[in-house]
Amino acid sequence: MRALILGGTREARELAQLLQNDNWHVTSSLAGRVKEPALPVGEVRIGGFGGPAGLASWLLQEKVEVVIDATHPFAERISVSAAEATRATGIPLIALHRPAWVPQERDHWIPVASMAEAARVVARDYHHIFLTIGRQQLAAFSKDPHNLYVIRCVDTPEVDLPKRHRMIFSRGPFTLADEKQLMRDNQIDCVVTKNSGGELIRAKLDAARELGIPVVMVQRPELPGGPRIIEVHTAQEARDAVYKV
Ligand code: NAP
Repeated sequence: MRALILGGTREARELAQLLQNDNWHVTSSLAGRVKEPALPVGEVRIGGFGGPAGLASWLLQEKVEVVIDATHPFAERISVSAAEATRATGIPLIALHRPAWVPQERDHWIPVASMAEAARVVARDYHHIFLTIGRQQLAAFSKDPHNLYVIRCVDTPEVDLPKRHRMIFSRGPFTLADEKQLMRDNQIDCVVTKNSGGELIRAKLDAARELGIPVVMVQRPELPGGPRIIEVHTAQEARDAVYKV
């Protein structure tokens, strides 16, 4: 009973624990982007596979019986790789992605299709912008010389940043009180986030609603689907699904 979990998320770590409890041989795979990642139990490998073909060879070599794509919903390329490699090898694929957030009453969300669109909207309409988007796509905002960007991420960004910015290094989770404090202290008039979903990081949305601050919400990319891929939303559902493939 050998499983590969494509990870980098809390759900992936929870699933590694659940499958290990069931005596599966679990390997979790991380991309290697974060300097000190939170590690799951069991075996961990770090770094890319070399596209779908590289992943397919790895799966065959390691005699993997099921793949669980538990990556972040915005990690599009590895999800495509998982779909292609499992189709080529005939190994079952379970896609574990937490549900997207949906707006509540009094939320003021501005949905956008890309980070480039988010950057255009905020540069035009806002002044003190809270970027909580990780660090890889910060360069989209770097051409705006006028407005102030408060950037929160885990590790130091290695891309161009907007001229006027303040960095906050923190991993979370964050409380509603902390998020409101941060937004008030920095006179935030707009929050930018990806629609990652998940309870542990949603306090920023509650804080924005309570303070009447608009949220520019980057919509999720279209991930591979279809009847061959079993789609689940929680680690427990993924754990149950591995016995049905
Ligand atoms: P991505 O654009 O889909 O992947 C780019 C390349 O990185 C992939 O083609 C693959 O290289 C490698 N890769 C990605 N995830 C991997 C994994 N779990 N194990 C081994 N190789 C992996 O991914 P990304 O958006 O850069 O995200 C990278 C990782 O960070 C993912 O594991 C994801 O779960 C986590 N993460 C991402 C976000 C986000 O907002 N994107 C947020 C939180 C956590 P090869 O083609 O060489 O195999």
